Amino acid sequence: MPQKNLSFLHIKNSYIAGNGVFSKKNILKGKRICFLEGKRYSLKEMINIVNEGKEDPADPLGIDEELYLDLDELFRTINHSCDPNAFIRGKNELVALRNITKGEELTYDYSTTMNDNEEKIKKAGHELWTCKCNCKSSLCRGVIDQFKTLPKERQKFYIRNRFMPDFMLKMFTVSEQY
Ligand SMILES: [Zn+2]
Repeated sequence: MPQKNLSFLHIKNSYIAGNGVFSKKNILKGKRICFLEGKRYSLKEMINIVNEGKEDPADPLGIDEELYLDLDELFRTINHSCDPNAFIRGKNELVALRNITKGEELTYDYSTTMNDNEEKIKKAGHELWTCKCNCKSSLCRGVIDQFKTLPKERQKFYIRNRFMPDFMLKMFTVSEQY
């Protein structure tokens, strides 16, 4: 069932990259913004549709181990930031990480959803997806890459505050170092 009341989200030109999604209202820290929706694919299926040229490797959102969403256009348009104002809770719930002011662009840190199966992806003839980052924040890492490549302090920030989806929390809190 499509979500109601998403009219406060609008797409326009972004200072980060291409188009972005902006909020027409203030959103308090901790409040749900929306659910990120799209068609579900396993890693294997996703590799196939990327191979067929039907999917840009930049677009799938990891929602569980080897499970992805091919996001619908509105949700796909939300940009990455290394210092985001939103994060993903549970599987695909976008939540305000801090108070968001009317007119602000919505962003989340794509790396908090990225712990891809390198072995299977390489076996299929692909490299892990990375992208240059132009988020212009003071915390900009210059690249969007797997969560494990983030500075340890930044990893701790996301894990301790639970500013990441459940499957990522599960994968990264098994280790004592956090
Ligand atoms: Zn950045």
